[in-house]
Amino acid sequence: MYVRPDRCCPKCGHKGYLFRARKTVEEDGGKFVETKYRCRSCSHDWWERVPAAPEQKTDDAA
Ligand SMILES: [Zn+2]
Repeated sequence: MYVRPDRCCPKCGHKGYLFRARKTVEEDGGKFVETKYRCRSCSHDWWERVPAAPEQKTDDAA
C-alpha cells in the first residue's frame, strides 16, 4: 500500500488537503515543480516545491 508523504497544513497542522494547481519553475539553473494545496480544515493555501525529474526535460536536443 502506498504511504502518502506526511504533508500537513503549515498553518493549522491538519493533514487533510486538496490539490489546487501545479506549475514548473526555473531558478538557479534548476527546474522545480511547485504544487499548490488547500487545507480542508482552515482553507489556507500553500505551495510546495520539489526538484523536477531530469527525465522530464525534453527541450535540449543535441
Ligand atoms: Zn489548515
